[in-house]
Amino acid sequence: MRVLIAGAGPAGSSLAVQLAEGGWTVALVDALSSPERNAFSSAALPLADADRLGIPASCCSANWWGWQLLDPDGLEHQWWAVEQQGVVLDFALFRTHLWDRARRCGVELLNGCRVNLDRLNAHSADVILSSAGNKQHRTVDLVVDATGPGRHLQRQAGVALESQDDPLLSGDGVEWLLQGDPRSTARWRDRLSFMLGRDWMAHGYGWVFPMAHDQLKVGVCRLAPPHAHNAPLRRSLRRLLQRCGLDQLPVLDRHGGRVASTIKRRQPLGSASLWAVGDAASTANLLGGEGIRHAMDSASVLSQCLLTGGSHRDYQIALIQRLGWRWTVSNRLARRTWWGLNTADADRRMSLLINGLSGQASAEDLSSLLFAYRFERYGWRLLPYLV
Ligand SMILES: Cc1cc2nc3c(=O)[nH]c(=O)nc-3n(C[C@H](O)[C@H](O)[C@H](O)COP(=O)(O)OP(=O)(O)OC[C@H]3O[C@@H](n4cnc5c(N)ncnc54)[C@H](O)[C@@H]3O)c2cc1C
Repeated sequence: MRVLIAGAGPAGSSLAVQLAEGGWTVALVDALSSPERNAFSSAALPLADADRLGIPASCCSANWWGWQLLDPDGLEHQWWAVEQQGVVLDFALFRTHLWDRARRCGVELLNGCRVNLDRLNAHSADVILSSAGNKQHRTVDLVVDATGPGRHLQRQAGVALESQDDPLLSGDGVEWLLQGDPRSTARWRDRLSFMLGRDWMAHGYGWVFPMAHDQLKVGVCRLAPPHAHNAPLRRSLRRLLQRCGLDQLPVLDRHGGRVASTIKRRQPLGSASLWAVGDAASTANLLGGEGIRHAMDSASVLSQCLLTGGSHRDYQIALIQRLGWRWTVSNRLARRTWWGLNTADADRRMSLLINGLSGQASAEDLSSLLFAYRFERYGWRLLPYLV
């Protein structure tokens, strides 16, 4: 089988390797000219998932043991574990690793090249590859949309990406990479920090993640309801930097992006010889704007399905089963929380929640709440956000 995968992020690259290992002829194409460009992801992961997915230590920029939440009043709350809880990847190094691995498995990697769908049939697809004024036509047996939240190929094929019952929810984020020093980064080291409350970021949250060499990733993300009046994200980020005393640090890089998913994932994940994977298949979780591990898991589910001759429906069911009901509950919780976080009442409830967690939860509990979506223990506190 000849397959072309559009998009060499975590999902597309992982899928390429698995299909090549299954004996398929794979072309992996990305619009980026090099893996270091547009390293947009904050790339925080729980340690167990980084290990499970075989992410090498060389891609990890920092480790973290604790959580730090700054509440709507600016009060700092901390939770520390004895065991390491997770890693923050250098997303550029991670993408380099994924691209190198794909090449080693015999995948044809074309970078600096944009994919457009020309014609889609039941058993083949015609695509156009454009790079620096050159156009190349290719016919393949199967084409995969791994273009992330843009879902470019599915749009071109006219696939329904959402329904009235299950609309696409989007969060937009901007992040700056700052160069600090041992003194300015001490307050942010070894932990993931989040800022919650409308003065920090209405309809969203802010964060500071540690990186190697006294660098920090600082960002804001907003998941606002339709037609909300929104201030520019950069203005919110500048204010957050000021409040955290980080506004004088040199900025090494500015980037950003979108996370967008449906909650129920009932939409078709492709059509005819087109399949979707990763963020393009709504695998990103909106609660913490995270999706690397889900994108890679969806690649495993899709490769299994393709290699065994499964249908789109088989793939959809297998993906729902793999991500589980907790993923859906957490996305529902995310919509409720972020859409509503712009009133004094919502701030008050957020403070109550954080205070409750301060008194009752350990760092491990927070990790299992935010990464394993284990809400049961705090059900009654989260209920106001769910109902
Ligand atoms: C600001 C921000 C912070 C985040 N922080 C975290 C985090 O801390 N932890 C976490 O797990 N997740 C995080 N995420 C989400 C995570 O980065 C994504 O879920 C993950 O990258 C999805 O992988 P993917 O392969 O599906 O898509 P992407 O990584 O988006 O890859 C898609 C690729 O497709 C290419 N492409 C697009 N269109 C075309 C085309 N027409 N032709 C060819 N190539 C094309 C793009 O260049 C890109 O390389 C964050 C996202 C954002 C925006």
